[in-house]
Amino acid sequence: MIEYIKDFLLNIFIIFSPLAFYPYIYKTKSRPLLYRFLMYIFFALAIITTMSFPVTINGLLYDFRTIPLAVGSLYGGVQVSVLLYLTLMLYRYLLGNPNVWIYILALLPGFVVFLFLYKSFQSLKLVQKIAVAVILCTLIKLLTFTVYLSLTGQIGLLLNNPISTVQNLFLQGLIVGLCVYAIEFLNKYFMMQEEIVRSEKMKIVGDMAASVAHEFRNPLTTVRGFIHLFGTTTIDKEKKEFYRKVCIEELDRAELIITDYLSLAKPDPEHIETLDVKAEIHYLSNVLLTYANYNNIQVNVQTGSEQPIFITGDRFKFRQALINIGKNAIEAMQDGGTLTLKTYYRNDQVLIVLSDNGNGMTPEQVKRLGTPYYSTKDKGTGLGTMVSFSMIKKMNGKIDIRSEIGKGTEFMLAFSEVKRP
Ligand code: ADP
Ligand code: MG
Repeated sequence: MIEYIKDFLLNIFIIFSPLAFYPYIYKTKSRPLLYRFLMYIFFALAIITTMSFPVTINGLLYDFRTIPLAVGSLYGGVQVSVLLYLTLMLYRYLLGNPNVWIYILALLPGFVVFLFLYKSFQSLKLVQKIAVAVILCTLIKLLTFTVYLSLTGQIGLLLNNPISTVQNLFLQGLIVGLCVYAIEFLNKYFMMQEEIVRSEKMKIVGDMAASVAHEFRNPLTTVRGFIHLFGTTTIDKEKKEFYRKVCIEELDRAELIITDYLSLAKPDPEHIETLDVKAEIHYLSNVLLTYANYNNIQVNVQTGSEQPIFITGDRFKFRQALINIGKNAIEAMQDGGTLTLKTYYRNDQVLIVLSDNGNGMTPEQVKRLGTPYYSTKDKGTGLGTMVSFSMIKKMNGKIDIRSEIGKGTEFMLAFSEVKRP
């Protein structure tokens, strides 16, 4: 009995091990080829290991190879399924098991059932998915056994031990159900996280829309005035040339505002690269300047010497993280003030400091920063700092906050420096 439980637990561990890597696999969903490759590798490893460590029930050898085969197929798709089937057959052959061709023939009906169920699987609800996976798993096993044992004249084995067969199928169903439940749970969790990030991004874009529209009006007014002037014939050539230059500069500025603004809303798969911190701080100040002007706030940028500073991370996530913090700072200065953006080195660390002289926070409020739905604003979501903090932590950044009621707040972010790319 102990022996059996030991084998059984080992098998459960093997079957659930691909799930430990599932967060990484999930991230590759936007790159189907890599996703399928990883799905195949992890579930093929699970198949090979379950086959290497079978369980003995009432003197008969069983293994749970069907579980990774069914789950990997349902979540990986037809190509992954074919590869998993091939791996299973090849490994069985390498183990020296007899009747290779009969076994391959026996596997076919199960595969046909999979093809039949696969198409509708994606759109099912959780309970239905679990049911389909359990049914598929049971059918694969039953069909394979029946065909194989009939063709090899051993069908008696299956019929003589109905209790252990049922027991085995029941255990298998239970594990498959748990497996699908775990995958669906993780999927839902990741999707929710993505949704929060996305909705916060749209919130920034929405909040800034008015200020961008406002800022955009200035160059339009200027250009309009000059065009009006061109209509009068009395201005000399030199002045005309000057006005023309001013017009182009103003239009370029308007274009820059729009480009910066639109790049905020861009959908972007994660892409880790080397970031020039000073250039990013200037980009940040440009984007925030529009919002600051609108709220009568000054922006002060201090990036020190000319020497560039580099860190690594996803550019758009990094920007979103800093814009959230900068936007909060502007919103904290209802009666005007200055937003200061600084970057410098200290002890091999790249420091980025965003400080304001707004209303500040109590130590209790500072502690609540980064927890979801904590907001003191009428139209706040209380998700901005949470999204920012999780992105900064993902970049291995450290966050230090100092705040004093009535005086202001300072966010100090520390990242490790990387050498010039
Ligand atoms: P939201 O901005 O939607 O309220 P956030 O998660 O961005 O949500 O911020 C949560 C809360 O933290 C804000 O409502 C505000 O009370 C506080 N806060 C954040 N940054 C500052 C700051 N620089 N100064 C004062 N309070 C701040
Ligand atoms: Mg905010």
